[in-house]
Amino acid sequence: MPDPTFANLPTNPDVVVIGAGSAGLGAARRLLKGGKSVMVLEAANRVGGRAWTQSESFGVPVDMGASWVSGANKNPYAKIARKSGFKLIEHTHAQTDLFRMDGSRANAQDYKDYAKNAKALQKSMNRAGKKGRDVPASEVTPNDLPWMGAIQSWLGPMDYGVDFDEISTLDDWQGKSDQPSYFVREGLGSVVATRAEGLPIKLNTTVTHIDWSGTGVRIETNNGTIAAKVCVITVSTGVLATGKMRFTPDLPASKIEAAHNLPMGLLVKVPMMFDGARLGLGENNWVTYQVPNEIPTKACYFIAWPCGHDYLFGNIGGKLGWDLSREHSDVTVDFAMEELVKLVGSDARKHFIKGFRTDWANDENTLGAYAAVKPGHVGVRKTLGAPVGDRLFFAGEAMDGGYPALVSGAYTSGKRAARKICKVI
Ligand SMILES: Cc1cc2nc3c(=O)[nH]c(=O)nc-3n(C[C@H](O)[C@H](O)[C@H](O)COP(=O)(O)OP(=O)(O)OC[C@H]3O[C@@H](n4cnc5c(N)ncnc54)[C@H](O)[C@@H]3O)c2cc1C
Repeated sequence: MPDPTFANLPTNPDVVVIGAGSAGLGAARRLLKGGKSVMVLEAANRVGGRAWTQSESFGVPVDMGASWVSGANKNPYAKIARKSGFKLIEHTHAQTDLFRMDGSRANAQDYKDYAKNAKALQKSMNRAGKKGRDVPASEVTPNDLPWMGAIQSWLGPMDYGVDFDEISTLDDWQGKSDQPSYFVREGLGSVVATRAEGLPIKLNTTVTHIDWSGTGVRIETNNGTIAAKVCVITVSTGVLATGKMRFTPDLPASKIEAAHNLPMGLLVKVPMMFDGARLGLGENNWVTYQVPNEIPTKACYFIAWPCGHDYLFGNIGGKLGWDLSREHSDVTVDFAMEELVKLVGSDARKHFIKGFRTDWANDENTLGAYAAVKPGHVGVRKTLGAPVGDRLFFAGEAMDGGYPALVSGAYTSGKRAARKICKVI
């Protein structure tokens, strides 16, 4: 981790970047390269935002947010990780431990049906997207085929962070492939944090008000006011939609509307540490079980022993994730354990050491995991990303059309905003 206590902060920089997540770090680096003076203001006490690796809980790296280097051939973090000596572990063709509704192991025919029907589902979505149909995924896909509940659960709650009927077919079609994909043994959050090295970043500094009524911008924070020529806003759509960050004059109504039409989805991770027992699950395997084809989904799917660590992590998304996030963390861990026991038996309890759930739902600096376009609203990513008055620039995962919801898309969107700024100041 870079030292977050940065010296020599400029007092009146050309650009203030709000947020030291992937987008903010990408923007700041590109602006400095373009000869601009920059100050990054970050509300949290750490850099990285939703890319965060911590080792305190289990003594080994746990990615609380982003963990896959997705679409690795076009992902800047794949190159950065390799160059900085991180260990990438291929996850593109990872195996699945598949279980039936009654907890028994799936047979060869089940695996075939699962793969075939997953393809059929994606094909129906692609067909709709290709025709420009911007409708809920549930409207165009077959739902009476075997394993459909499980397939929809992976794509909806676990992948998009929303239930299957809240995915836009057109937005899905416009996204680029997330394969090949890799884990990082030391954690993807650690890779993102390297982008902060040497940057002028002020932590524990929450922006409360942006006054852009004059020729530049005046940024009010809990640590004082800073003047700059322009600013880059990289907060999540969840934060933007609350209106807690005030603007004078107000942001155009279309901007606020766009944030509401790109609401935050939720993925709750449930890291669970075991004593070294593998419970019959293969390292880096997906662990998936049959569920009724009902929306909202009631499932917790696992990644077993990522990178060979002695923990697995459960994934719970969409409405169930939001509901559980209103309860104590132990309730989520108990739910995950119950689901696991159904698959591998009560031995799981004997070998279990401790677990917890991530809390992106209640983190006031994010208010969810990542944004998902509401069906019928494709186009909002562009509206949200458009600059206002040549003084307010926007970046973040929600604004990248190619790799939305990913650290790579966030980073690229930050660089894109910086390039626009370099043209106007
Ligand atoms: C559980 C989970 C799993 C994920 N899995 C993956 C994955 O496997 N692969 C992948 O590529 N992506 C994944 N993602 C998504 C990825 O983490 C995000 O898309 C990306 O990190 C977002 O970056 P960002 O810069 O747009 O936003 P953020 O990282 O949220 O950065 C915005 C920053 O602004 C700060 N901020 C907020 N309000 C204020 C304020 N008022 N003043 C100052 N600062 C403020 C925040 O603290 C934050 O640091 C996952 C995310 C989650 C939560």
